[in-house]
Amino acid sequence: MNFLKGIDGMKAFRASAMKKAVKKPTKQGLRYSMNDRESTLMKYMSLSTKNTNESQQINYMQGQGQDHEQEHEHQADEQQDNYDNGWNFFERVRKLLSIVRKTASNLIKKVLEIGKKRAENQLDEHELEEVEEEEEQEQEQEQEETTPENDDFTGNTWDPVTTERIASLAPHVQEPATIFINRVEAELGIQLRVMSAHRSFEEQDALYEQGRTTPGKIVTNAQGGESHHNYGLAIDVVIMENGQPVWEPIPENVAQIAQELGFRWGAEWDDPAHFQMGEIPS
Ligand SMILES: [Zn+2]
Repeated sequence: MNFLKGIDGMKAFRASAMKKAVKKPTKQGLRYSMNDRESTLMKYMSLSTKNTNESQQINYMQGQGQDHEQEHEHQADEQQDNYDNGWNFFERVRKLLSIVRKTASNLIKKVLEIGKKRAENQLDEHELEEVEEEEEQEQEQEQEETTPENDDFTGNTWDPVTTERIASLAPHVQEPATIFINRVEAELGIQLRVMSAHRSFEEQDALYEQGRTTPGKIVTNAQGGESHHNYGLAIDVVIMENGQPVWEPIPENVAQIAQELGFRWGAEWDDPAHFQMGEIPS
């Protein structure tokens, strides 16, 4: 692109291009036929070298080594070329506007497409988030179910004594025990009191001696370490009426609620006040 260095270079290129150009007939008369690149450059230069002086200089350069007649012919061609270039200028503007219009139209289409895709993606992301949230919740639930430690449990019953005794149970038994007491009250209108929950080995041993070496009747066959009570896995309950215990066997509809919550009923071995959960550690 050395020929474009400075106005002189441009003029030199213009002159050489015009020499190479072949005259051919057009609607406007004779005009130069050039390749597209040259033609475009010519049009560009024509717009930037409208000055008559420059035009004359170009004509002079073109006319070098040519006779007067040829120079006249060249001048006529130059006028024709300028006329074409003027007309081409408006043609170019028209084409440019057409391109701009098409480009703008395509741009708007693309923007709309991008907007639509984004909306779809956002929807997908939203759905994905919901699924992830559900999965997280499920995982949390699983963890809660599989983790026996639940020190945060603070459930109340109708009876503060019962609530306090339930708190002595193994952490994972406290909640089902509380629900048991509350469901029996809500669904059956029966108020249960937990008489015994966790028992130490010593307490169990002392209870074992009752009716054997100490006064009273036999209440257990389990020595220290042999009872679910020793691990906080069992409760003994009694029905309360007007603040007093009613020493009657626990009815089946009460036991059914405990069993639904995962307790095993002691009525199986003739201990109908007893409900236990899980197995004692071996
Ligand atoms: Zn018991």
